[in-house]
Formats: sequence, structure tokens, C-alpha cells
Amino acid sequence: MARRDLAQTFRDLDGQSYGRYKSLVGSWDLRHGSLEIVRAQADPFAPPSRVRVTLPDAAPEELTRTPDRRRAHATFLLRRLRRELRGTPLQVDAGGQQVLARTAGQVRDDGTVVIELGAPLPGPKRRILGREAATLLGETLPAAVATLRWEELPDDERAAATRFAETVEDAVALREALAERRLVAFVADGAVLPRRTGVDDRPLEHATPFAAPESLRVTLETPNAGPVVGMGVPEGVTLIVGGGYHGKSTLLRAIEAGVHDHGPGDGREQVVARADAVKVRAEDGRSVVRSDVSAFVSHLPSGEPTDDFSTTNASGSTSQAASMVEAIEAGAGVLMVDEDTSATNMMIRDARMQQLIATEPLVPFVERIRPLHAERGVSSVLVMGGSGDYLGVADTVIMMSSYAASEVTEQAHEIAASTPGRTQEHSGFPAVTARVVDPASLDPSGKQGKRRITARGIDTLTFGEDDVDLAAVEQVVDRSQVTGIGRAMALLGDHVLDGSITLAEGLDLLDAQVARDGVDALRDGPRDPADLALPRRHEVAAAVNRLRSVRVRSLRR
Ligand code: ADP
Ligand code: MG
Repeated sequence: MARRDLAQTFRDLDGQSYGRYKSLVGSWDLRHGSLEIVRAQADPFAPPSRVRVTLPDAAPEELTRTPDRRRAHATFLLRRLRRELRGTPLQVDAGGQQVLARTAGQVRDDGTVVIELGAPLPGPKRRILGREAATLLGETLPAAVATLRWEELPDDERAAATRFAETVEDAVALREALAERRLVAFVADGAVLPRRTGVDDRPLEHATPFAAPESLRVTLETPNAGPVVGMGVPEGVTLIVGGGYHGKSTLLRAIEAGVHDHGPGDGREQVVARADAVKVRAEDGRSVVRSDVSAFVSHLPSGEPTDDFSTTNASGSTSQAASMVEAIEAGAGVLMVDEDTSATNMMIRDARMQQLIATEPLVPFVERIRPLHAERGVSSVLVMGGSGDYLGVADTVIMMSSYAASEVTEQAHEIAASTPGRTQEHSGFPAVTARVVDPASLDPSGKQGKRRITARGIDTLTFGEDDVDLAAVEQVVDRSQVTGIGRAMALLGDHVLDGSITLAEGLDLLDAQVARDGVDALRDGPRDPADLALPRRHEVAAAVNRLRSVRVRSLRR
């Protein structure tokens, strides 16, 4: 049974020892639902207490009838709540520009809205500050969450909520339309690609909107916005060329971001990429555990095998080679690569260098990029302004000039055919080895056996006694996604991997659980206080691959 009058109870506890806050754990009546104190912090310096608010019948059928609409509406409500709670100590994990499934806010198919927040309970000198707590959780919070109910939303906010859900639904439809049209990405006319700064993900003001080149223009259907015109990036090998500072990397980054949905006003709400599109880059210093990099490294001066390669300190080229084969192993259908973040010798080996260095161990990407598509079905989108060696291997060449895109495939092919170039030294794309990861090595236990899965920003995941460096895993967009990745790794280790199935098979099983239970699949039960957002399998795999203590039992060729 839910208890009544939380505010009065707080006031009654005024001045008592801080630990007595724990007596409030449980369910409390709210005017329009319930408030549950899921967990009370033990002292004022501990992580904030967890509060869950459940509001039945708070969302209309129109916004709850599909999982995508529910995810969108939950995001809309979280953003609204964050505005409402600005200036209070209450913490709501509303996220950034992306529309991710997250534990902080969920909308259920019966119209129930569930919001979870961090509530730092006031207690200077380890005494309960009853009146302040009563105001915070007894008045401020109930008043703020009440504004989320559809009944309370003013007309303009209702319209905004509807537009938000329709925008997300359209993005999902655009993404799903790609495969059938044999596209890997779509960039709508009018999209705003550049971001405000390197650390501010909002759209750049006064940017040049995107316009599709005539020859790559396609029209895709959406359920709400109707037909949408834009640039289709075809399957195969796509090259983005152009002078420095003309917008090449910005275009690629927008495509990378297109694996996630964005809300109205982001600028990229109609920029989508296939869900299996993975950015890879060089990352010297990373750990590699038993990767088969033989597709890109034929031999090593040390004599180490390249089809079973491990290092605690990869070079730029071997790190990128490992990241490429690992992405393919985990199921990537599209690789995205930018010259800005690539190892030069992993990308190119020109005619003169071929003459001078006869025994190059590296097989540059230019040799493998076509067979990778022809034999393995993996497309590439590559930014390359610095070497013409790719002109001949590209199916599509897009030129960026003063932020304007044009297609220059024909010219590129003519130039490639009429000028001397490099000699092809290798052929085909070798089979990608699957690895069997030891489940016991995905263990998040810290020193005292206590589980430690913590995100530090979006770049570092503390997993047990290890710090996993995710700085080069560029499609991780949210701190709560990092925590979600850690949870997914623990889940793989505890319940999914059995020491005989491969990592990719484990990720399939994980995907199936997530498809069934959503982000709740990553929770430790109903009292779990963590803010989690759903990661993709590709980022989970990337984290497993960067875990220095991971063990690979065997290779499946
Ligand atoms: P490149 O990779 O070709 O060297 P970038 O993509 O890094 O170029 O872009 C260079 C600069 O131009 C960046 O500061 C970026 O924010 C800005 N920029 C990119 N696209 C646009 C655009 N459509 N409108 C305005 N500025 C843009
Ligand atoms: Mg660039």
C-alpha cells in the first residue's frame, strides 16, 4: 500500500539522524499517481537518492501506439521536465540531442509515464533537513511532473510533442527504407549538418543547408512528412573528396550520427544511416586481444602471427586494422572512415612507395575496399582529400566544395584511367575470424568484489578494475550509454556467453533480449538506481575489444 503525505513525514523527521531517510523507502501517493523512493542515500555525500514517479493515463494513445512513439514521447517529456526542474537539485537524465531509450523516462503502451530522478536529500551535519526535503519531494517534484500529463499540456506543447514523435517515426522509416533502395545513408535537402562547436552538439547557426546533387537525388517516403527529397549514399564504395575545410568531415560525422534519431530542430532529423554503420579510426595505444588482422597486415617484423594478433599498445595502423576487422566481426554492414583520424599507411601506399619499399607488411585499405563489398557485402564511406589512389576504386565520388555537394564519379574515373597509378598487390578479402570470448573475463568485480560499472563522461568506462578507453569509439553519444555498455558487457559475461558461442552470436542474443525488454534488459532489477541508455551492439563489441583484461578462448575460422 502506498503511504500518504510524504511532505508531512519529511517534516516530522526534521533534525533526526541522516540514516532515517531510509525509513521513507517505498511508495507514496501523489495526486495523479505515485512517487516511490526507490533508494535512499546513506549519507549526504553518497550518490543521490533514487525517486520514481509513475503517472497512469498521462500519455494519449496517439503517442503510445508504437515503441518508437513511446521512446520519442519519453524523450520529449524528459527534456520538458529538465526545463521545469532547472535551478533545483533534482537530476533528470534527459540526455543530449539523440532520442535514446533510457531508464530515466519511459512511456508504456497503456499511457503510463514513468520518470526516474536523482534526488540529493539535504542533510548538513548528517541531520535530516525535513522542511527542505518536504518542499523538494513533496511540492517541487510533484508540481513539475504534473505538467507532463497530457491533460495539463498547453496546446502548443501538445503540438510540439506530436511533432517530436512524428519526426522520430519518420527517421526510423527513412532508415528502414535504405536497405531496399540499396543505400547506406540518406541526407535530406535542408538538413543542417555542422554542430555549434566541438563540444556543443546543437546545430550551427547560419549554416549552409544541405542540398543533394542532382545525380544522387532520391525521394523516400515517410509516414508523417510524406515524400522527403535528399541525397542517397549508395551501397559499395563511396568517396567524399574536396579541398580542406570544405565540409567533408562534417558530412561524414552527420552520417555517423544518423544511426541515432534526433528531435525536431536538431538539423539532422532527416539524416539517417543504416543501423549497422560503424565508424572506425586509428587509435594508437589501444589493446588488441587475439584479433585476426591478416586482411590488413601480412606479416610483422617481430614474426608474430597476424591472424592471431595481440598487443597492449597498438600502433596507429594495427589499431585501425584491428578496429576494422572487429567491426566486421560484430556485424558492421558499413564502415565509415575519415582521413583525419586514419593512419596514413593503413589507407594508402602509392606507386613511388611501392617501388622503394618492396616488403611492406601493411595491406592498405585501398587494396581491400572493393573486395570487402564484393565478397563480404560491407560498404564503405570514406573521406579522402589527400590521395587520388581511391578514385579508381570508388563506385561513387561526392565532392564537397564550400559545403555544397556534387557528384564527380565520372571525372574521377577518367582521371584514374588516364594517369599512372599504383599497382594492385593483393586480391580478395579473407574470411573474418570469429572469436569466442571467455565469459569469466567480462567480470565487473572491483577490488572488494563489489561491482563497479561507472561512466566517466562518454570517453571512459570503469569496468571492474579496468578503465576502458572509448574516446575513439565515436558513435557513443551519451554518458548513460556508456553505463549501458558496461551493463551489457556484464550481462554477456553472466548470462549470455557460455565459452563456446562467438562474440557475434552473443551480441545476437543480447539484441534479442533488448528487442523484447528494451533498456530494462540492462537493469539489475526494479530497484536499480542507474541512469542507463541503450547502446548499439557495435559499441558494446568495441568496449569488449578494448577491455584490457578480456580473454579470448578460441578463434573460429
Ligand atoms: P574538411 O573535412 O573538408 O576539412 P570540415 O568538415 O571539418 O572540413 O569543415 C570545416 C569547417 O566548416 C568546420 O568548422 C565546420 O563546422 C564548417 N562547416 C561545415 N559544413 C558547413 C555548412 N554546411 N555550413 C557552415 N559551416 C560548415
Ligand atoms: Mg576533415
